[in-house]
Amino acid sequence: LDAPLFADLAGDCQVSFEFFPPKTEKMEETLWNAIETLAPLNPRFVSVTYGAGGSTRERTHATVARITRETSIPAAAHLTCVDASRDEILEVAREYWAAGVRHIVALRGDPPRMGEKFVAHPDGFENAAALVAGLKSVAPFEISVAAYPECHPDSADLVADLDNLKRKIDAGANRAISQFFFSPEAFFRFRDAVEKAGIDAEIVPGILPVSNVAQTRKFAGMCGAAIPPWMDRLFEGLDDHPAARQLVAATIAAEMCRKLYAGGVRHFHFYTLNRAELSYAICHLLGLRPEQVAAERAA
Ligand code: FAD
Repeated sequence: LDAPLFADLAGDCQVSFEFFPPKTEKMEETLWNAIETLAPLNPRFVSVTYGAGGSTRERTHATVARITRETSIPAAAHLTCVDASRDEILEVAREYWAAGVRHIVALRGDPPRMGEKFVAHPDGFENAAALVAGLKSVAPFEISVAAYPECHPDSADLVADLDNLKRKIDAGANRAISQFFFSPEAFFRFRDAVEKAGIDAEIVPGILPVSNVAQTRKFAGMCGAAIPPWMDRLFEGLDDHPAARQLVAATIAAEMCRKLYAGGVRHFHFYTLNRAELSYAICHLLGLRPEQVAAERAA
C-alpha cells in the first residue's frame, strides 16, 4: 500500500486505550499517570480488563467506576464468563449500569489454568455470544466483543471463527476489537473476510506496542497471534539499551498504524499495559494532538 507520510496525516482518527486494573498503590499511581497523559487525546473510550477467573472483579469495577466518576472519558468494563453463574455475571452488569457505566467489552475469557480447555460454569454463559444476549437483557449497553485476525486457537478454521463473530454481532454487539497482530495484511484479509461473511460491524484493530519480544511471545502463543521473525531482528542486541528499545518499539507500531491508516482504518485501540508514552508517541505521529493544542492551532 502506498502509505502517506506521518507529516501528511490529518489527525482525523480516533483512538481508545486499554488498561488493566492495578494491584498495588504504586501500580494505581502508574495507571492514573497514564490516564492523565492520554486523556487530552480525547479517546473515544478507555477500557479496563477483567482477570482470569474473575480474579480482578472488584479491582476492575473500582477502576472503571473511578474513571467514570473522575473523568469525562467513557469507560468500558471487560467482563468474562469464567467461573461465574449467569446470575452472578448479570448482577455485576447491573452494578455497572447503576454506577453509570454504559459500555461492556463482553468476552468468554480464558480457562483459569493455562493450557486447559474452556469449560463453562454449570449455570454460566457458554460463550461470548450468550453473554452479549444476557447483557442486552439487563440494559441497553454499548457492547464490544473480541475478533481474531489470525483466528482464535479454539476455532476449527476461519469460517467457524467468522460464524462465531457473526453470532456475537447478531446478539447485539456494536463492534469488535481485534487481538493484537503484527501484519497489516493479515488484518486487511480478515476485514475483507468479515465483510464477505455479511458481518456489518466495525472491526477496530488492537495495537500492542511491543518493547519486550520474549514477554510478548509467551503471551502471543496463547491467543492466536504470530510474532514474525523480523521482530526479533529489529530488537536484536537492544537488551541493554532501554531507551533505544522504546524508540524502536514506537517506530514499529507507528509504521503498522500508518499502513492501517492507508487501508482506511480510522479507529485504533491501544493495549497500553498501563504505560502512556509509547501509545502517546504513536498517536502523536498519527496526527493526534491534545485538545488544547488543536484548539490553539485552529484559533
Ligand atoms: P468467544 O467469542 O466465545 O469464542 C471463543 C472460541 O470458541 C472461538 O474459537 C469460537 O469460535 C469458539 N466458539 C464459541 N462458541 C462456539 C459454538 N457455539 N460452537 C463452536 N465454537 C464456538 N480475557 C480475559 O480473561 N479478560 C479480559 O479482559 C480480556 N480482554 C480481551 C480484549 C480483547 C480485545 C481481546 C481480543 C481478547 C480479550 N481477552 C480477555 C481474551 C479472551 O477472553 C480469549 O481470547 C478467550 O479465549 C476467547 O474469548 P472470546 O470472547 O473471543 O470468546
